[in-house]
Amino acid sequence: MSDPILKVSNLKKYFRVTNGLLKAVDDVSFSMQRGETFGLVGESGCGKSTLGRTIMGLYGANGGQVLFNGKNVHQLKGKNLKHFNREMQMVFQDPYASLNPRMTVGNIISEGIDIHRLYSGVKRRERISELLQTVGLFEEHASRFPHEFSGGQRQRIGIARALAIEPQFIVADEPVSALDVSVQAQVINLFKRLQKEKGLTYLFISHDLAMVKYISDRIGVMYLGALVEVSKASELYRKPLHPYTIALLSAIPIPDPEVERKRERIILEGDVPSPINTPPGCRFFARCPKAMEVCHLNNPTLLQVGEDHYVACHLYK
Ligand code: SF4
Repeated sequence: MSDPILKVSNLKKYFRVTNGLLKAVDDVSFSMQRGETFGLVGESGCGKSTLGRTIMGLYGANGGQVLFNGKNVHQLKGKNLKHFNREMQMVFQDPYASLNPRMTVGNIISEGIDIHRLYSGVKRRERISELLQTVGLFEEHASRFPHEFSGGQRQRIGIARALAIEPQFIVADEPVSALDVSVQAQVINLFKRLQKEKGLTYLFISHDLAMVKYISDRIGVMYLGALVEVSKASELYRKPLHPYTIALLSAIPIPDPEVERKRERIILEGDVPSPINTPPGCRFFARCPKAMEVCHLNNPTLLQVGEDHYVACHLYK
């Protein structure tokens, strides 16, 4: 296997709050290969967006490191930092809020082109037009403003903006969750097509396990700041191991009335505990239907249990 494009090791991101320390990302490790899509899933507040932003260097780390193409993201400066900012781009969740309403679509898309001085004059106009066509829009859209577009079209503009400076890696943070279901599939298919055409690598963050399955090669399940299971996507759906993953998957409707009738839904009791001053032991202890005495005392670490399958649970020691 070639060197990973991204290697996250024991990454920690904590926030000091009035009543203690909020451990948004707590000792997370995983790596990604070039051209891969890694789906990061979990309930809202589990730390997945903070993890994405820390990987991008938007937040500093409290421990551990992020290597991108072998370089520590949090130590980059000057030219190297500018180069990194070009190589890793983000597509945001809310296509309504992430586009400046006072700028034309052409100027929104070309912001990165101007910052990095990639094209000017006719070449710049041609590049904007090419980007609009790449994401399924038209040249004449460049002179319009964001409010003139639907949610799906605005997300296409957001994708064109991210592509403008030819990144290698895109962090897509809930990129379709604000869109109508009918539009979600179109945008996901656009992501897939662009990956094929441009060899992009995606960190795809979502709360929707069913949707992530469709686009991901591997999936990491996050709970309360930590990865609790990492596996190839097909294996995770066929043979989930962590009780939290099993519960999440049991909530996905199956498009076969026979099977759907027999589906046993696992309802998790209780709320997600606070990530502030987390107690020792397994983070999932308070809600786990399989909890044992040891779970209360020791926090399980992520261990390999199969080919490319890792789980943090005392049931699999
Ligand atoms: Fe449940 Fe224990 Fe496994 Fe945690 S370690 S998920 S409490 S069985």
